[in-house]
This record gives sequence, C-alpha cells and structure tokens, in this order.
Amino acid sequence: MLIIGCHLSITNGIYNAALNALSIGANTFQFFSRNPRGGKARDLDMAELKKLRQLMEEHEFGPIVAHGSYTMNLASNKQQTREFAKMILKDDLERLKHIPNAYYVFHPGSHVGQGIEKGIELIIEALNEVIDENNNITILLEGMSGKGTEIGSNMEELRKIIDGVKYNEKLGICIDTCHLYSAGYDIVNDLDGVLKEIDEIIGLERLKAVHLNDSKMDFNSSKDRHEVIGKGTIGLEALVNVINHPLLKGLPFNLETPNDLEGYKKEIEILRREYR
Ligand code: FE
Ligand code: FE
Ligand code: ZN
Repeated sequence: MLIIGCHLSITNGIYNAALNALSIGANTFQFFSRNPRGGKARDLDMAELKKLRQLMEEHEFGPIVAHGSYTMNLASNKQQTREFAKMILKDDLERLKHIPNAYYVFHPGSHVGQGIEKGIELIIEALNEVIDENNNITILLEGMSGKGTEIGSNMEELRKIIDGVKYNEKLGICIDTCHLYSAGYDIVNDLDGVLKEIDEIIGLERLKAVHLNDSKMDFNSSKDRHEVIGKGTIGLEALVNVINHPLLKGLPFNLETPNDLEGYKKEIEILRREYR
C-alpha cells in the first residue's frame, strides 16, 4: 500500500490534522513539531492523542512525521543559538514519545561560515548531548539542497554525523526529491544509481521517509524551491518512478509542495492512480 500524505498544520490540534489528512486521501502526514519560527510548543492533550491513535489504526496510517523548526541550528557559531536548538530538540523528542508511530525529521544545520567540518562536529556534539541510550524515537536527518552553508547536502556528510553519534541505532535519514535533485543527485535519469549510492554510503535500512516535491530550480543548482508535482524540473514521471521504486516501497511519502488542501488532494489522487 502506498503511504502518502502532505505537510499539514496542527494549529487546530493534531487530531484535526489527521482528519484533514483522511479527507484528502492521505494515510500519513507531516507537521511542525512547534511554531516554525521557534515559539512555544502546543501542549499535548492526552484525550486527543487517544483519538488520534484510534483513527490511525482504523485507517491504517503509516508513520506520521514531525518536522523540527527551521530556526533550530545545532551547528550555529553562537553558543546561545546552539543551546536553544538543543533545548527544543530535547523537548520535541520528549513530546513525541506520546504521539503514536511518529518519526522526527530535522535539517542538520548550517555552519554559517565555520566550515563543513566544524559544523558537523557541532551537530555531533549536540546530538550526543540529546540522544541517550533510552531514546526510542526514530530521528531522521534530512538531506538538503546545499543552499548557503547548509550541512547534509551529500550522503558523506550525513554518514559522518551518524557515525559520530554514540546511540545512533534510531538515527536515519529522510530524502527530499527536490533537495536531492538540486544537490546533484540525478533522480530523473538515474534513480537506481542514486539509490545505490545512498545504500553504499548510508545503508537503505536507515532511509525511513521521503519528501516528495517537484523543483522550481535546475539540476545541481544547490537551490531549494519546491514546486507542485509535475510542474517543475523533476516532472511527474520521475516522481512516479520514486513512489514505485521497489527499494522505497513502504516508506511514508510526504508532499511539501506549494498547495492548499484541495491542491494536495489532487496530487495525492494523481500519485495513487500512478501507483503500481
Ligand atoms: Fe525539511
Ligand atoms: Fe523536505
Ligand atoms: Zn526544501
């Protein structure tokens, strides 16, 4: 079964987000773990979570995905920013313990001029402070397009981070089709080759989630501008090949395309129709 959904707001609660997902034919969704600009997390309502669990079971949802704040930079050159990032990461993971079957995805960070090596070192240091032997949450580093000083736009960097983390059993990656293409991974002409490379460097068993986006930008541009499915440089055919690839079967695919609910519904319809 194809597990597909999209990024949804949880402003009206996570149960309502799940109802919205259902209404557009989704069986997963992604949500910001807190206000994208960093503010306070909405308190979890246990009664709501019980309803969420029931709904997810009844409708055979795949894992849902919490996305960390964009402002969270574990690789910042400012101690205060790093401390804040660690604090919200810790808090996000704590809260996720109560949400059934949820993964946590975040952007590894930006080195802001300190260099990739230093940035990776800071991310590892932070993750080792936050992830202990009791961690039960699947934590995913998102592969990035490589804009600005972003870390994690190639598999080698993601591998280094994973290797540096002591309790890394639950640490994996999330690929984003737009980011991959912008970062120079040619998923249009050589999806097999890209997946082979991911397998060789990271290991496909650590690939747990996919962001399914078209791109407004050219191949290898290092730019990050998502486009509606079929309207961008990647195109529908290549994205259909992604959802149908035997090595990606069973993963949750989430759309992060510029859309409203109705637009997401149409995209999900098209992709379900193309699923073999
Ligand atoms: Fe992301
Ligand atoms: Fe993404
Ligand atoms: Zn992006």
